[in-house]
Amino acid sequence: MTFKDLGLSPALVKAVEEKGYTKPSPIQEKAIPHILEGKDILASAQTGTGKTAGFTLPVLQYLSETKHPKYRPLRALVLTPTRELAAQVYDNVREYSKYVNIKSAVVFGGVNAKPQIATLKNGVDILVATPGRLLDLHDRKAVSFKRVDVLILDEADRMLDMGFVRDINKIISFMPEKRQNLMFSATFSNDIKKLAATILRNPVSVETAPQNSTAKKVTHKVYKVDKKQKTELAIKLIKDNNWTQVLVFTRTKHGANKLTEKLIKAGISAAAIHGNKSQGARTKALKNFKDNSIKILVATDIAARGLDIPLLPHVINFELPNVPEDYVHRIGRTGRAGAAGEAISFVCSEEVEYQSEIEKILKEKLNSSVLEGFEPTDTAPPKRAATQSKGSFGKKKKQRPSNGNPGGSTDDKRPKRKPHFKGNKPAGATSGRGRTGAPKKKRY
Ligand code: ADP
Ligand code: MG
Repeated sequence: MTFKDLGLSPALVKAVEEKGYTKPSPIQEKAIPHILEGKDILASAQTGTGKTAGFTLPVLQYLSETKHPKYRPLRALVLTPTRELAAQVYDNVREYSKYVNIKSAVVFGGVNAKPQIATLKNGVDILVATPGRLLDLHDRKAVSFKRVDVLILDEADRMLDMGFVRDINKIISFMPEKRQNLMFSATFSNDIKKLAATILRNPVSVETAPQNSTAKKVTHKVYKVDKKQKTELAIKLIKDNNWTQVLVFTRTKHGANKLTEKLIKAGISAAAIHGNKSQGARTKALKNFKDNSIKILVATDIAARGLDIPLLPHVINFELPNVPEDYVHRIGRTGRAGAAGEAISFVCSEEVEYQSEIEKILKEKLNSSVLEGFEPTDTAPPKRAATQSKGSFGKKKKQRPSNGNPGGSTDDKRPKRKPHFKGNKPAGATSGRGRTGAPKKKRY
């Protein structure tokens, strides 16, 4: 099977060939024909398997075949949960659209809106955006959704998490009823699937691997270790193994800063990326990490979704995420496009339960070991209410704000359950956007 066989135009085939793709990935092979037919789809495929081209190529083909004669109303909208992912998807859109006459743009928060407004004014066929800034721009009449034919949610399950769902619904309310909806993610919980069904129309489900599974070439390793020994363990592993590019996930922004400082003190070049950093600092940290001018990027879950760092060999979970799907996304930053990768998790006594929840969704036991000199002595039980422990993920009404913890800080020192909300929105919420004074979301 070739890209041409899938029905893509020579201009698009040429662009992907220049990217070095020789044949479509399984998800591309499965999804592209349905999208070209105009179907709605709910697509699930492992991290790093080319989902971006899976939705971008057929949408570009549609846009270039059905050009509006006089002006360029916005006809395709891609929404992503983070600014970094928006920037990356936009880069892909630009590369893939090199030989078609399509205008694309990206908008996200944390940077000056003026140039974004100017770009939109000139007319854009396809826009990549994060929801908050997009709604701001819509309020300011810089963009209209009236002619949107195709809506794409990348990292769809995160986009439909509480927090984002209200923004998404608001954006949708300005769109024509008749449009194509595409949702892509590596993970979907049953709750999110139900929610997705309220947006999708007669969707085709496209899956290329068991749900929530991880890339095959990623090996998982767990080190049992005391909480207070984790920093030393990280330093030891990085130094002893001479690791030169490691993405380390912490649960909190504060924890990311603290660890970064200690790594630097130990002579290891590192930077932190999280929601309290300026966009300039975030962009710089990611760039320096990608071009190897720093060895370690310490991140909250802000960097867990979608980021493509080719050949990234190691991911460390300094703490386990308290939402098991986030594990899949975090470690999915390694083992991309068929490369090998290693995912290491530091698990202290408080986190044992998170580990079993992760193993449950992976349907696989993680290989646990103890490193000499780091034998755990702490036997504190998991700090969770017993009634919440078993099989509670995916239960009805349980909201899954992942790291959102709307209205609150995620900087708690120890793992704990997130608050439960009745229904779909936290009390008092009118809009998900910080600007309005409503509870903030996605504070990772
Ligand atoms: P996903 O969204 O599934 O996590 P991406 O779309 O970010 O994955 O793609 C992961 C990597 O694979 C990117 O570096 C991309 O350029 C590359 N890629 C995508 N499609 C192909 C293909 N058909 N052949 C080879 N590499 C590909
Ligand atoms: Mg992706």
